[in-house]
Amino acid sequence: MPISVHSIKQIPPSQGVHPLDYLNDQYGESWMYVGRRAYYRRRHMKPSPLANPFRVQASQPRGSCVAQYRHWLWQQIQIAGTNPVLGVLCSLAAWEDDLRLYCWCQQPGPCHAHVIIAAVAWLRSSEGQAFLITRP
Ligand SMILES: [Zn+2]
Repeated sequence: MPISVHSIKQIPPSQGVHPLDYLNDQYGESWMYVGRRAYYRRRHMKPSPLANPFRVQASQPRGSCVAQYRHWLWQQIQIAGTNPVLGVLCSLAAWEDDLRLYCWCQQPGPCHAHVIIAAVAWLRSSEGQAFLITRP
């Protein structure tokens, strides 16, 4: 049930095994990439609907776009009707096993994935459940 945040860059090196294969071997369905479209060690990684659309500017500290993401995510959650972002969040809220979210950010440290965890906790709360029942 707990959701945790991890960095793809901090996956322990295992000889000849691509980090994505390592994650599939180790965690099966219990991990999810939440980053943008990427190309890493000769593999394409599909963008997550929960990826952070804001990039850290070179002049700003890591995590400076997490607050922007929190604002963006809340706006996305409130979109009426078919809502892909809310759909993914609801599937995370319904997930009953441990779940590992993977981004590029060094952990421990700021990352938009911590906002995702907070949003999932909110969806699981009575307030979140009431929101889902009454949303247009
Ligand atoms: Zn991150």
